[in-house]
Amino acid sequence: MTSAGDYPWLQSTRQKLVGDRRELHHCLFLAGGPAIGKAMLALEFAAQLLCEDSGTEGPCKKCRACHLLCSSLHPDFHVLMPEFLTESSDPILESHAQRYLEPARTGQKRKPSEQISIDSARALSEALLTTVRPGGRKVVLIVGADTMNRNTANAMLKVLEEPTEGTRFILVSSYPYRLPATIHSRCIRLDCRAPSQDETIRWLQSRHGASPNDLIGLAKSGLGPMDLDEIIREDRAAMVQDLIRCCENPSGKAASPLFLSSLCAQIGTRQALSILQSTALDAVRQSLQGPPEGAQQPRSLFADQNLAFEAFYRLGAARERVNGQVDEQLCLEDICAWLSADRHYSQSRP
Ligand SMILES: [Zn+2]
Repeated sequence: MTSAGDYPWLQSTRQKLVGDRRELHHCLFLAGGPAIGKAMLALEFAAQLLCEDSGTEGPCKKCRACHLLCSSLHPDFHVLMPEFLTESSDPILESHAQRYLEPARTGQKRKPSEQISIDSARALSEALLTTVRPGGRKVVLIVGADTMNRNTANAMLKVLEEPTEGTRFILVSSYPYRLPATIHSRCIRLDCRAPSQDETIRWLQSRHGASPNDLIGLAKSGLGPMDLDEIIREDRAAMVQDLIRCCENPSGKAASPLFLSSLCAQIGTRQALSILQSTALDAVRQSLQGPPEGAQQPRSLFADQNLAFEAFYRLGAARERVNGQVDEQLCLEDICAWLSADRHYSQSRP
């Protein structure tokens, strides 16, 4: 099992969870930016709670409970998460989550579910009632807790309000504002800090040995370190650099919506839209602060402040649509056509 101790920016939060032996509230809520390692921190804390010989350094990794957890067989570790998140999750989380996911029918091809279903919440509720061991502790980890719809959240609220004996809950979300206030009110929230660009560069360098200059562009993408780590491992770093260059200096083939949408599709729709939206937000921030003295007007996809504002909202809406049932490719082509068209418009203005 990977230790959250490998993520320097999470140390202060980890210390509160793993290092501090105080009994914390029965329901914890870990919030923080996407792809910064919150789920790994939650997994390590869950392992600590279940471990039969845990210390201030975390789970012992030797006892029967640790062995069961690492073998993905622990009966008292319950994981809920939307199916689409399992693809990029730690294998321990993914295998424990399978217990509550709707199995795909033989030969059926479907888009992985974007939500935690009410059926999953009901199945969890029943499992918690039927798997009682005297004195035993159960841990429920809900990753992507914001993907519970209203019905699922209501079903989960009942479970949180009347927890079975010895049950601890850990909720994890990158978008805490989407959780109902009723769920918030049942939890103690701990915020996880996102790394600075310099921290991200140092961490990626220690893992991949790349030169800092190669990593500066990636760190500017606005993606979390876990996403960037995956992008480097899967050899998609050059494409991300290309997309950032398209944003900074759109010209030639970069002006083509087809080129833009094709590049985004190769990077991965969700991550590409996130990069574009983060770049638009940076442009808005810079325009509000004003350019440094003597600096030339930047030539970028979002040089125009009004366009940058509108692009930020449109890209946010596109990210929401991609999370629904729409065709990802169509959604991508639509937003790339708009970005390219509006860029020509802003550049042609006096
Ligand atoms: Zn142990």
